[in-house]
Amino acid sequence: MLNRSFTPSAAICLIAIFSAGSLAFVSGPVSDGSQKSNAQNVRQAASLSSKTPSTTDDAALRARANKLHRASIVVDTHNDITSPLIDEGFDLGMSGDDPAAKVKTHTDLRRMKAGGLGAEFFAVYVGKEFVNKKPSEGGGAARRALDVIDAVNEQIRRHPESLEKASTAADIRRIVKSGKIAALMGIEGGHAIEDSLRTLRAFYNLGVRYMTLTHTNTNDWADSEGDINNRNVQHHNGLTDLGRDIVHEMNRIGMMIDISHVADKTFYDVIATTHAPVIASHSSCRAIANHSRNMTDDMLRAMGKNGGVVMVNFYDGFLDPRKAELALRSRTLEDELKAKYPDDPKRVQSELDAWRKANDPGRTPLSVLIDHIDHVAKVAGIDHVGLGSDFDGVPFTGLPEGMEDISKLPNITFELMKRGYSDADIKKVLGENLLRVMSEVERVASELSSNRASSK
Ligand SMILES: [Zn+2]
Repeated sequence: MLNRSFTPSAAICLIAIFSAGSLAFVSGPVSDGSQKSNAQNVRQAASLSSKTPSTTDDAALRARANKLHRASIVVDTHNDITSPLIDEGFDLGMSGDDPAAKVKTHTDLRRMKAGGLGAEFFAVYVGKEFVNKKPSEGGGAARRALDVIDAVNEQIRRHPESLEKASTAADIRRIVKSGKIAALMGIEGGHAIEDSLRTLRAFYNLGVRYMTLTHTNTNDWADSEGDINNRNVQHHNGLTDLGRDIVHEMNRIGMMIDISHVADKTFYDVIATTHAPVIASHSSCRAIANHSRNMTDDMLRAMGKNGGVVMVNFYDGFLDPRKAELALRSRTLEDELKAKYPDDPKRVQSELDAWRKANDPGRTPLSVLIDHIDHVAKVAGIDHVGLGSDFDGVPFTGLPEGMEDISKLPNITFELMKRGYSDADIKKVLGENLLRVMSEVERVASELSSNRASSK
């Protein structure tokens, strides 16, 4: 599906008018306290308290943006709060931003509501290490996925006034209308199905609505970007025959296919195989930040043709070109340190942290995140971009200024409005594009299921 309803030229004058103030409306705490950030905060406070015409305009625009944000269905397709839930005893009713909190998070119910969130896809993240873990250690991979699914269900059970489980795009619309947040799940790491189509179907029946085909590890049927240059890993040149069967089965049952984390060749194999639109649940643009976790312009165009949606990741290591380069270098360093200190993970971590600190280029402005959204809108089309935060799946301070946690989502609406995006196009970015893809995946499934039954 192709749609080019956004016209960049309409935005040019607005960009010129507002570009100087691109950081002036960030209201959240600035955690690293750099000189530049403090100066900006002082300027910000001064400009907000003055009565200059531009401040009035900005306040009016902010009010209009907040109104639009509240009237939109805001969908986040990737949130890793599940890790603190299952590993650290966190509960969404706690305040993960309390300075005294034992567990610090980007996400909790209070801040989800403050951010105007309508639907959250909780990541059922299964680390590659679970493949080889014994039951006594919380393994294997399918068992870990079941445990995370239970942790999400427990949150829905404990907070019925705030959360309701959604299975369809129509469910999301109904739940948001009732004033609650729709809770959904996506499996991160295809090794979780342990090469079984039956297990895949069982996960669908438990409510899982997308699966990221790989995490950072190549599995038995799909190559990952994360280890594609590691010669010790046996690769498949993309998807295997089983991988293609899994893609077709996901089409048939109506589970969205997520291509974040996969190797480039796997991506193109998926695009050639799928009968339904696909998603990238948390991926940004390689043309802006040269990291192999990000998508090339050619991939973005392929997503546009496929009718899918690229949900932009908020991690500054993927957004900021300076940090993307460092992230790739730190990956190599981590491998070297692991080889040097095979029995001392603490030493590996502390040396890595020290190296990162010494090389830190400073905070990333919010405008860089908006640049990625803008880039996908221009290259893939305005119908093919959305939000996949990766909150609580990235380093605690690894987010742009003004996007420190989930309560800051309205800043995106404001920034897009400043760049001249229409209200209708902003709604698409916030959630309507994902809802369209989810509905289309449901439609394809009902069509395929009425044609043939699975024999595997
Ligand atoms: Zn991820």
